Amino acid sequence: MSIIFQESVKGRKGTVLPESDVPVHHTIQSKYLRSEDAKLCELSELQVVRHFTALSRKNYGVDTNIYPLGSCTMKYNPKFNEKIAAMEGFASLHPLLPQLVGGGMLTQGALAVLFELERLLCEITGMDAYTLHPMAGAHGELTGMMIIAAYHKEKNNRKTEVLIPDEAHGTNPSSASIAGFQVTSIPTNENGILDIKALEETISEKTAAIMLTNPNTLGLFNPLIEKVAAIAHKYDAQLYYDGANLNAIMGKFRPGDALFDVMHVNLHKTFSTPHGGGGPGAGPVGVKKHLEQFLPVSRIIKRSDGTYALSYDFPKSIGYIAPFYGNFAICLRAYAYILTLGAKGLIEVSENAVLNANYVMHSLKDFYDVPYLRTCMHECVLSAKRQLENKVHAVDIAKALIDWGIHPPTIYFPLIVKEAMMIEPTETESKESLDYFIDAMKKIALLAKTDPQSLHQAPISTPVGRLDETKAVKDMDFCFQD
Ligand SMILES: *Cc1c(COP(=O)(O)O)cnc(C)c1O
Repeated sequence: MSIIFQESVKGRKGTVLPESDVPVHHTIQSKYLRSEDAKLCELSELQVVRHFTALSRKNYGVDTNIYPLGSCTMKYNPKFNEKIAAMEGFASLHPLLPQLVGGGMLTQGALAVLFELERLLCEITGMDAYTLHPMAGAHGELTGMMIIAAYHKEKNNRKTEVLIPDEAHGTNPSSASIAGFQVTSIPTNENGILDIKALEETISEKTAAIMLTNPNTLGLFNPLIEKVAAIAHKYDAQLYYDGANLNAIMGKFRPGDALFDVMHVNLHKTFSTPHGGGGPGAGPVGVKKHLEQFLPVSRIIKRSDGTYALSYDFPKSIGYIAPFYGNFAICLRAYAYILTLGAKGLIEVSENAVLNANYVMHSLKDFYDVPYLRTCMHECVLSAKRQLENKVHAVDIAKALIDWGIHPPTIYFPLIVKEAMMIEPTETESKESLDYFIDAMKKIALLAKTDPQSLHQAPISTPVGRLDETKAVKDMDFCFQD
């Protein structure tokens, strides 16, 4: 496909405007005006429409086909929530509008949404209070780590270190590190969960927090979580829950009940909101009562007359972590999503997410290695170890899936699984689309034996084939040259 400049034809026009019948008056000083026309492409309107329509068809998203990206929860987001987010009364609000305007309360509805969303998240996760300000999961982790640092400072605790399992999402160690802590890695045992013995040997008076994901990034639930909490609290270390993916546990398990002290939730993963290409996001942070005073400002309060207001009167707060009040439209989508599903619907989301992941894992277990073959939660991790015997790597399988019209799963993560392929089908996929994916994976496994070379060449159906990713990173300057 050509780029739009190649389609340009000198002198062609998209629209022709009539001569101006009023005097031309330049308010811009002449020294700032162009002396020659900008070098734009010259095209008809139809050419432009066709060009961009063709481009949009090369795009891939959840609206196109299954997107089984492990850890990232790329699922279908009901269009209803988009409609709510676009409602004039919400979409046209300016963040600097006063909270109460002479009786006409322009922002009260929005504040009510935020206040109630905080309450709903408390109910779903078993925490006591939330901030909606963080704008991504990683941002939520950093906020949580800053709250933990403030807690220890208040108590004069000398804490320097955060313990994180070796399978954790990469944002966990980076957030802890940016918050000023040293990170120590705890190994995963042969059952795919945190090695409690290693934890007991590593934890010390220096330990500020333990950061856990449960189910972890292997898609496995740690049933000994209360034991971990007891170990943490014995040293006054805070237990942090990475709740980026809540798909597996809603209505089944509440981190707050399992004695977690701080957590974040990725609204853009579990609670609607399309988030391709790295955003937009929202990573609200929930805390237990003893940490509430450290939450960022502003906070939403409900006055005795039933109106809502933003309060900044929290002297022990860690302060601002984001401008204004978070990513409002994402919070609004999450609010609409939770209300439309209701408690029963959210439980069904979790049950179907877990059922789908187990269906995929069991359908493929004879074709690929499953490093930890036990009931998984919302995602499963396979390995291309067996295919490696024919020099077929996880990346070859991922690229081959593209030719089947399927977005590849997450590969080479978690780092502790060789040739990892991390698959999260999500609750929104039908049995037919799961079967299509499974069938593709089986056929690729067969090709790995009979014609491995064909997999090395994949993808062949895309505008560009296999890219040299190392070269792309190394020669990035190339993008900025003429
Ligand atoms: C996605 C994810 C994160 C990070 O969330 P972002 O919104 O991408 O910053 C952290 N932990 C886990 C387990 C995740 O899946």
